Amino acid sequence: MQIGSNKIAELSKMLAEPQSIVILSHTNPDGDAIGSSLAWAEHLRKLGHKVTCILPNRYPYYLEFMPGIQDIIIFKSDKEGRAAAAVKGADIIFCLDFHTLTRLDQLGDLIDENQHAKRVLIDHHLDPSEDFDLMISYPEASSTCYLVALLIEQMWGAEHISHDMAENIFVGMMTDTGNFAFSSVTPDVFRMVSVLAAKGISIPDIHNFVYNSFTEGRARLFGYVINRKMKIFHNGSVAHMSLTEDELRRFWFQQGDSEGFVNYPLTIKKMKMSAMFTQHTDFIRVSLRSRGDIDVNIFAQRYFNGGGHKNAAGGKSFVSMEETLKHYEKCVKEYAREGML
Ligand code: 5GP
Ligand code: MN
Repeated sequence: MQIGSNKIAELSKMLAEPQSIVILSHTNPDGDAIGSSLAWAEHLRKLGHKVTCILPNRYPYYLEFMPGIQDIIIFKSDKEGRAAAAVKGADIIFCLDFHTLTRLDQLGDLIDENQHAKRVLIDHHLDPSEDFDLMISYPEASSTCYLVALLIEQMWGAEHISHDMAENIFVGMMTDTGNFAFSSVTPDVFRMVSVLAAKGISIPDIHNFVYNSFTEGRARLFGYVINRKMKIFHNGSVAHMSLTEDELRRFWFQQGDSEGFVNYPLTIKKMKMSAMFTQHTDFIRVSLRSRGDIDVNIFAQRYFNGGGHKNAAGGKSFVSMEETLKHYEKCVKEYAREGML
């Protein structure tokens, strides 16, 4: 894959002089959101720019090992107004790993107040909105981290990727490809992994940090949700699971603990689509996964006010858990009637 030369020229022009830069990523940030933000931030700082990374809310505890993560400002708990000050003074706002400002929740309102900053998108989600001045949008890319690595390689050379940047980039490439197993994985993704591996990163250590560092509560919650809450219907081809706030409390829930649960029903033969509904204070978070041709991006857009990728998407529900599950089952039927399932 190659980033278009017109985009590179435009970006070069923007970065020709030292700039005040803000890097943003999406609510409920994952390895790709954080990895791409941190690697891009480190690179821009080395070029002499002033860089602030901001996330709408906190990251999962098992990503705390990522180099530089403690310097990210968490907007939701930013009492001193550091995020607001950085956004206000920004010349360029980079938006990484999301495709519409609505994915920033309240942080999006803050961005709207700064109308003079250039907005640059670096992302791999389908259908980016018109919110951006420069769009480095490649939905066929397996992760935003891969795009950031490509960009650095093409614009400055792979020697500009440091050991820490390589670790951060690898996290996003690994997590967004289901450990290099999804159809988005190309030969060039493995070439890039080899570039990163040559920086001396420990792939087994990163793997252990990301996949084998959970709490006991998470393991027990997982057992509970699979055993007690997974409902399979539509001839064994569709599943859903749900967790209420009360259930989450019983298993000492921490942010990120239910990450990945939604994938598990897809390990069952014949399963085509899986959904996980997690109750938050003001809404229910919807996570959707599918196999092959089944498009959950369209499903999320149509029925849950969300979006994402063809095989991994999400959204929100603002009615009770019971109504949400009923709605989901009804939508599955409608989707199947239309031949989409
Ligand atoms: P997850 O289920 O891991 O939270 O999200 C899967 C995918 O769906 C991610 O690519 C994420 O960006 C997208 N996604 C999750 N929630 C939402 C949402 O509320 N709105 C939109 N547009 N995309 C979402
Ligand atoms: Mn991503």
